[in-house]
Amino acid sequence: MPKQSPGDDNVGRMQFLLGLRRRGISDPAVLRAMDEVPREHFVESSLMDKAYADQALPIACGQTISQPYVVAFMTEQLGVQANHRVLEVGTGSGYQAAILSRLAREVISVERYRTLAQAAQQRLAALGYDNVEVRSGDGLAGVAERAPYARIMVTAAAEIIPEALLQELAKDGVMVLPLGPHAGPQQLVKLTKGEQGIKQEDLIGVRFVPLLPGKAREL
Ligand code: SAH
Repeated sequence: MPKQSPGDDNVGRMQFLLGLRRRGISDPAVLRAMDEVPREHFVESSLMDKAYADQALPIACGQTISQPYVVAFMTEQLGVQANHRVLEVGTGSGYQAAILSRLAREVISVERYRTLAQAAQQRLAALGYDNVEVRSGDGLAGVAERAPYARIMVTAAAEIIPEALLQELAKDGVMVLPLGPHAGPQQLVKLTKGEQGIKQEDLIGVRFVPLLPGKAREL
């Protein structure tokens, strides 16, 4: 039999989906997106055999691609609909943006490392995810000219809720973000913008790389 490439590892991918279901991911659209997007294209080639293991993996610039369960959980909590414009802060590899692009009308994703932003944009284009626009910049300020956003997902840990992002969130909009100290316990929170102000719901404990101010000085 010819040797299979990791992307052809159907058993691994089936276990990947079963694992997500077993851990409580139940939204069929989210499971479909997790099934469709080839995670092996978003990790370094030396780590391809770990692409469907439920773990975060290192990417360039000292950053990480999140654990698949956390990607699926955050996506499910965000409640994305087909007519939504979604903002993601922290493009990293572009994997989470690809998942969101399967559910939303349009995804704007912002990354403070120019090299990561460019690599992610190229990767997403090569895979045909043409409703994602990657920006290089400071996501703490959001991307004001495309606001408001029905949904916002932050994939780096914030010590306080970024005010600009709350302002760019549409009425009835939902934002999911990891909140907490950079080196300590962080909580994933879900914020809903209603008539009476912002409602906050605490979800699960998480561990994310820090949300840092400004564009990265290094590439
Ligand atoms: N969502 C990514 C994982 C992100 S890791 C994926 O699917 O691969 C968090 C990312 O947030 C890192 O790439 C980091 O550089 C970026 N980041 C941190 N602070 C930021 C800021 N203020 N604006 C934009 N990106 C930021």
